[in-house]
Amino acid sequence: MIHCAIRSLRVPYGFTLCNRFLSPVLPQTRLLSDTVHKSKLLQLYSTTRQLRKPLVSPKWSTTSRITATSSLQLAHCRLFHTSQPRKAIPPLVWLILRPFANLAAVLFGRIFRKAWKKLPQEKRDKIILRLKRNRSKVLGAAGALTFGIFLYVLAHLEEAPYSKRKRFILFSRQDMRNLCEQAEQEILSTSASKVLPHRHPLSKTIVRVMAQIMESNHQAIIDSGVTSWNIYVLDEPEISNAMVLPNGTVFVFSGIADTCSSDDQLGAILAHEVAHVLLNHQAETLSKEHLSSFIFLFIITAIWAVLPDFAAFLSHIFASQTSQIFISLPFSRLMESEADAVGLNLAAKACLDVREASVFWAKMALREELGCEEAPMEILSSHPSHESRQKAIDELIPDALKLRESCKCKKLSPADPRMKFGLHKLRLKEAESKGCLSCKSIFSHYDI
Ligand SMILES: [Zn+2]
Repeated sequence: MIHCAIRSLRVPYGFTLCNRFLSPVLPQTRLLSDTVHKSKLLQLYSTTRQLRKPLVSPKWSTTSRITATSSLQLAHCRLFHTSQPRKAIPPLVWLILRPFANLAAVLFGRIFRKAWKKLPQEKRDKIILRLKRNRSKVLGAAGALTFGIFLYVLAHLEEAPYSKRKRFILFSRQDMRNLCEQAEQEILSTSASKVLPHRHPLSKTIVRVMAQIMESNHQAIIDSGVTSWNIYVLDEPEISNAMVLPNGTVFVFSGIADTCSSDDQLGAILAHEVAHVLLNHQAETLSKEHLSSFIFLFIITAIWAVLPDFAAFLSHIFASQTSQIFISLPFSRLMESEADAVGLNLAAKACLDVREASVFWAKMALREELGCEEAPMEILSSHPSHESRQKAIDELIPDALKLRESCKCKKLSPADPRMKFGLHKLRLKEAESKGCLSCKSIFSHYDI
């Protein structure tokens, strides 16, 4: 299996891991309680690696464990809850059907227009007259369809954890996990040679920070139902990014080492990715896409039924881009902001310095400001601008600091890293005005 052949890193946290290896070592309740120490987990993790056994048992059910552990109360910081999984059409079926449905809508609209044109004027007038006479029935049918869609949406509404906003979810977490297993294999089949070994210093750092986040937020991790978290660090120095799949597989690109100047900044990025999984954002995005695609089918059909081919083609593109700008992208930005907010709390509970999250986005914003990176228009972007993210995080930091304090973390240095970065920024701007700015220096360590 590719999963075993490549050099993957497995975060020492997961039900199966506990079930198979840790239970004999520690009592179960103790194992999943607050008292488990990170070093113990890491020690046990290295033991499991030596055993070279798969950490995931597909036959092992998590249901009983979730029930058994859900009563364990954390002293503080229990923020997340998840809804029960529901039966739904697998997302893969939707993904396959969608392009065909779009094509069918175009063809149907076009065939209707051609057939209409071929009809003698007398017959067309008759049909129009009949429709006018039965106006109430036509409107009733349209109303029934709209009401049906409304009821369908209503039946699939659920409350998002943490933000408590109502959202439309069509797919269960399990559906999403099944879907992304395939995506994971595809990514790995093309990037297997780029996966850094677990002995690599960057891999070690990322696993250590991730373990800290996992351990400190274990109840949220349990609630998410993700039983195994994998990290792949890909040797891509030009890419400074990370991404996550709904099954808890995190891909981190090695360029992140240049942009994050501390564990706290790295932790902010990783916590953001974990937050996407806890919030089940992938299922929400896919559900919304399917709903909007379904509604869009009616619009496409109407466009191709009324307009001549070229005009219909242009209108189709225009409608598609408009829905992208006014529906999909704002929705994506909302998800990102939510993941930032929840990620900040995860980082706070992991005793990271949450003020560094603001510094990270300030650096990214400065990079754009100084012309080291192109700044896309926010309205055309799937993510909020770096500046918007920094401002939003700054607003959340006081609460995150209180949360951190309530988790009995070590006191933070009174020297606010945001102030330090402010001075660094002034120096960089001065260097820019003298024409001797190096873009790399934006991310360099900024001790004063
Ligand atoms: Zn994100």
